[in-house]
Amino acid sequence: MIKNLLSKILLLLVLFGSFQTTEAQIFKKKNKKEATKPTPKPKKGAIQPYSKVITKEATTDNGLFDVHVVDDKHFYEIPDSLFNREMLMVSRISKTASGIGFGGGKINTQVLRWEKKPKKVLLRVVSYNVFAADSLPVHEAVVNSNFEPVLYAFDIKAFKKDSLNPSTVIEIDDLFKKDVKALGMPDRLRKRYKATRLDDSRSYIETVKSYPLNVEARHVKTYNAGAAPSNGSLGSISIEINNSMVLLPKEPMKRRYFDRRVGWFARGQVDYGLDAQESKTITFLDRWRLEVKDEDMEKFNRGELVEPKKPIIYYVDRATPKQWVPFIKQGIEDWQVAFEAAGFKNAILAMDPPSPEEDPEWSPEDVRYSVVRYLASPIPNANGPHVSDPRSGEILESDINWYHNVMTLLRNWYFVQTAAINPDARNVAFKDEVMGRLIRFVSSHEVGHTLGLPHNMGSSVAYPVDSLRSASFTKKYGTAPSIMDYARFNYVAQPGDGDVALMPNIGVYDKYAIKWGYKPIHGVSAIDEKGTLDDWILEHAGDPLYRFGHQQVGDVVDPSSQTEDLGDNAIKASDYGIQNLKRIVPNLVTWTQEDGKNYDDLKTLYGQVVSQFNR
Ligand SMILES: [Zn+2]
Repeated sequence: MIKNLLSKILLLLVLFGSFQTTEAQIFKKKNKKEATKPTPKPKKGAIQPYSKVITKEATTDNGLFDVHVVDDKHFYEIPDSLFNREMLMVSRISKTASGIGFGGGKINTQVLRWEKKPKKVLLRVVSYNVFAADSLPVHEAVVNSNFEPVLYAFDIKAFKKDSLNPSTVIEIDDLFKKDVKALGMPDRLRKRYKATRLDDSRSYIETVKSYPLNVEARHVKTYNAGAAPSNGSLGSISIEINNSMVLLPKEPMKRRYFDRRVGWFARGQVDYGLDAQESKTITFLDRWRLEVKDEDMEKFNRGELVEPKKPIIYYVDRATPKQWVPFIKQGIEDWQVAFEAAGFKNAILAMDPPSPEEDPEWSPEDVRYSVVRYLASPIPNANGPHVSDPRSGEILESDINWYHNVMTLLRNWYFVQTAAINPDARNVAFKDEVMGRLIRFVSSHEVGHTLGLPHNMGSSVAYPVDSLRSASFTKKYGTAPSIMDYARFNYVAQPGDGDVALMPNIGVYDKYAIKWGYKPIHGVSAIDEKGTLDDWILEHAGDPLYRFGHQQVGDVVDPSSQTEDLGDNAIKASDYGIQNLKRIVPNLVTWTQEDGKNYDDLKTLYGQVVSQFNR
């Protein structure tokens, strides 16, 4: 095989008359040597012609890397243009036996770089925990001390000699089947279950799918384990892991540096480049890339609202029950008012995914699409994990997982917190428009997290407790200045207070926070934005509406920043709340009974009354 290939190359070289070059001389010598051997066979692992590796039988999925499956083997065809580009690998547990925590949990995030050598492709790990700006002399020292470890080395199987798009083929089965620690079960679980050894014979690749900007690999790993959580008698544990590899943008987004006075999901990095005696940790925001189009720059500077180059788009999963789709969409687009404070219009949009006929390739796994996913799971919660660029904080994708039983949670809270004044809540099953309004509220809250905002537990304290009994006040301001507080539903208002609002909207604080994090500041570096950012905070110094109070875990030291409190006086608010609970209890039987059903609902909601009392 090699001989054939070399003779062809030789023939070409003869044709082009380039025998004079030293390279060709070397080829010639080698060829002579090989020719003297009696039976020239390709060495095991030698580079072969493309068509011998990726045969006609291959099934191929085109994308960032073309993924080929031939027999049972999986191949990545890496475009040469993507070598040395940075990619983010996010590993999640996608399926487990019961008892290992629920699927979807992130286990590892790292930046990788594929590097091409003459006969090998290396997969290296790039560290972004240590940083110094490129232009500083200290950069080189940081690069050296960060010498990139090799996660895996692959033999090159073939080259595709395409003049426009040359590419390199490697086989990837061993990367996922062998015990590559960074891609497998995290250490903490290995220890807990006394996992000793990976069993290759029971570890395999489930699927590998390629999209324009990401490759998704699902693989099952089985470990021998001394303390397996379920089916202990087997003495082993299997988990399915999803490794998502995402191409990072060539040009990292400009950072925005974090300030404790505004609540934000931020990330830290050790910086050796700052003009200080010692290194220090710098933190910057996780946020979407919202940029002003060049042609709109003048308008923007005049204070006119402009549409961003690329809006934030959320797709609502096809699996979502039809009656809830409009409410989930409203919850998403409710944030438009906040982005208007940042100078943008139509910055966030809700859309239906294309139908399978319109786009058979469309998938929530595609990193280009952020999706509110509807999961039929008994977990009564919704959450919003996001994937962001560790270099800049740019949010690349953010799916929201919406578990079916969120509805149960909403029913329970709304019942115990408002039934005393709200006939709509005096039922086991709410009318669609009532449940829809609650879904819109939760959708907004969860989207808020995916925009970068954490809980603001110091928000609800801005309002005097008695204002929450006023219809005109609550209609205008909601029940708290931020939808990101855990100020759920208005349990303060008493019968006879009239048509009060029962929940918060996107409030004063939310608009301010979005402006602070997203309004572009042009013409200055990220570090030099500090002055403007400071001014934006100081404009509202001392005003409780603009206050951020972080979520306190464990002992509560700041009584004004609590979960579940409402208004500026928690004791007074609780008194009102308890009076309302006393009104609910005598009616529990009537409000929960339905013909032909037992008292399970009564039992559930009585339990809810008791836990509300304890909050
Ligand atoms: Zn939340």
